[in-house]
Amino acid sequence: MAFENLSERLQKALRNLTGKGKISEEDINAASREIRLALLEADVNFKVVKDFIKTIKKRALGAEVQESLTPGQQVIKIVDEELTKMMGETAVPLNKAPHVPTIIMMVGLQGTGKTTTVGKLANRLMKTENARPFLIAGDVYRPAAIDQLKQIGDQLKVPVYTEPGEKNVPKIVEDGLAEAKKHHNDYVIIDTAGRLEIDEPLMKELEEVKAVAHPDNILLVVDAMTGQAATGVAKGFDDRLDVTGVILTKLDGDTRGGAALSIRAVTGKPILFTGQGEKLTDLDVFHPDRMASRILG
Ligand code: GDP
Repeated sequence: MAFENLSERLQKALRNLTGKGKISEEDINAASREIRLALLEADVNFKVVKDFIKTIKKRALGAEVQESLTPGQQVIKIVDEELTKMMGETAVPLNKAPHVPTIIMMVGLQGTGKTTTVGKLANRLMKTENARPFLIAGDVYRPAAIDQLKQIGDQLKVPVYTEPGEKNVPKIVEDGLAEAKKHHNDYVIIDTAGRLEIDEPLMKELEEVKAVAHPDNILLVVDAMTGQAATGVAKGFDDRLDVTGVILTKLDGDTRGGAALSIRAVTGKPILFTGQGEKLTDLDVFHPDRMASRILG
């Protein structure tokens, strides 16, 4: 399960407090030290951890006595609330265009699960909104990516727009959008090229695609298993493209949780969905409050 190490460590740190009738400053300091180590070990960004601990200590020491809760339960409640806040409070929905189609541009590094996630998102929109999505294959440098998207399209019975041999991605996107409008599709999802790392030609191309597509959503796909590195990547993409949100993939294989916990705090951008497996149905809405409760057990 995702977060298992962090979950275990935090629960252990807080368990010491639960039985106590009264909590001293030293108890809070000891618990804070454990929480700090647990978060750092989970690969949460250092500054995020520092701010978090400062807030926890301040709130725990100044906590008002609530008759219904023991002092230990109060500290757990504070940690729960602050973890939730760190991840962004409540679930954030996709932006909807005032007139169809709503345009979603997917960006991210190669191998993060971008193409798979295009399929997952299309599937989700069909299931939850009865939508008719239209996919555009804009990753022209990796022929396998186009074939992969076509296969996903066949599986879902969703149209996939391609222009074989064409390397001008903004042109493909413009043509694809015209096609989608002609057929009154309500969502267009644009798959774009990924690289092994952020580079100038990639960013320039993505900026050009953004300029022609006017997307309602720019969703950055990042791999949870890369931990804090994912946070750096998110910042890099966001600085250039002003992304609207993040999809965190491979959470099923992430035992640490650093990316899920840091991305919102570092970039200010919400995580909308998480990928929890390789199947097209493995995409979930991200609920920070539920995630925090799950971590704390
Ligand atoms: P792209 O290069 O970013 O387009 O990545 P792909 O969509 O080709 O995905 C790369 C690999 O990651 C594939 O083997 C996918 O099946 C796998 N993958 C994608 N999302 C998830 C996920 O949420 N969980 C797991 N376990 N694997 C995933």
